[in-house]
Amino acid sequence: MKIEKNKSLKKFNTFGIDVRACKYVELYDEEDLKKILSADEFKNDSKLILGGGSNILFTKDYEGLVIKNSIPGIKIIFEDDKSALVKAGAGVVWNDLVLFAIEKNLGGIENLISIPGTVGAAPVQNIGAYGEELMNKFHSLKGIYFETGKDAIFEREECRFDYRNSIFKKELKGQFVITYVILQLIKNPRPVFNYGTIKNELDKQNKENYSIKDVSEIIAGIRKEKLPDPAVTGNAGSFFKNPEIDKSLFLELKKEYPEIPGFTTPCDKIKIPAGWLIEKCGWKGKRIGNAGVHDKQALVLVTYGNTNGSDILSLACEIKISVIKTFGIELTEEVNIY
Ligand code: FAD
Ligand code: NAP
Repeated sequence: MKIEKNKSLKKFNTFGIDVRACKYVELYDEEDLKKILSADEFKNDSKLILGGGSNILFTKDYEGLVIKNSIPGIKIIFEDDKSALVKAGAGVVWNDLVLFAIEKNLGGIENLISIPGTVGAAPVQNIGAYGEELMNKFHSLKGIYFETGKDAIFEREECRFDYRNSIFKKELKGQFVITYVILQLIKNPRPVFNYGTIKNELDKQNKENYSIKDVSEIIAGIRKEKLPDPAVTGNAGSFFKNPEIDKSLFLELKKEYPEIPGFTTPCDKIKIPAGWLIEKCGWKGKRIGNAGVHDKQALVLVTYGNTNGSDILSLACEIKISVIKTFGIELTEEVNIY
């Protein structure tokens, strides 16, 4: 275990913000993690678990201990005729797990292809895309409480999964580190392709049946086309969540903006694409200094060159003000701000 001091985090967050961690350590197994959490040396330090840094905005140096979670390993731990339980270390790159599943023809997470980050962070915001969410194939996870160093297992219900949310992003934020995740994936899977233009793209292939690999390749292609590559342009994906509003407000807005998109949620609210609201306020493609709004998807804020986190935060604030003034809807951040 090598504790590094005054470590630059520029390479460890996809916005590419150049802040420093007072202390930094990269860990590969649970035992080392427990040692660090129980060590007197770090008792009084605040602690931040870092995965791929793709859902984080750093606005200042981190005064405590940053723990980069790199616990490796993917394996099938149980299977029957219908499904398989796949266990992965929190430090595994999420997309590697998706590719593993596709290669074994285990279905359920193929629509979540090309999402950056680690397996350990996936339950934190219940990652979702193209009509799928992690919670739908989640079995359980293991982790450790910072305070006591004790292990705990969380089953699906206990995680309180919600739209881009979970107990780990709310009540247990900064108190618990996820070390392993177990998913229950489906044998003989049927791909889900009723979202957006996936079906149209598949139809061009003129096949009788589509595999999960076909669907994943279509989605990976759309994502590559539409989203900025963090290796080239700093970003953390969607900056805000899609707001869920009451039907009455939606109907009011519809009178003034007949083209406003809305999707009914299981709680009978209407989910409005935040990107549409932001675009309508004229922000798409706008740039203020070295911070900007992506020109293909207004929900993604981007950095150009050397930007600091406060520039992004100021831009986000301006956007929130104009959306509330125009539509009376308050946007909330999806990205974790430190
Ligand atoms: P980090 O950014 O390192 O951490 C995020 C939060 O989780 C932090 O608060 C951190 O402390 C905490 N955390 C990380 N690991 C652990 C752990 N092991 N235990 C406890 N807490 C932990 N998200 C989607 O949901 N759907 C998408 O389609 C999507 N597309 C994206 C596209 C792009 C181009 C980018 C840049 C991001 C996108 N995201 C998307 C957001 C992001 O990729 C996901 O939220 C991802 O799960 C973050 O993983 P990470 O390892 O980078 O987490
Ligand atoms: P899109 O297809 O342009 O659609 C815009 C928004 O409308 C999406 O955010 C989506 O909500 C919602 N939507 C569209 N069709 C829907 C349907 N049939 N049912 C319910 N909701 C629907 O979005 P996009 O920007 O290209 O992204 C495509 C997918 O990738 C989305 O699922 C999005 O969440 C995901 N994505 C997420 C991030 C992130 O950082 N979180 C970044 C990039 C892409 P949902 O977001 O609820 O699906």
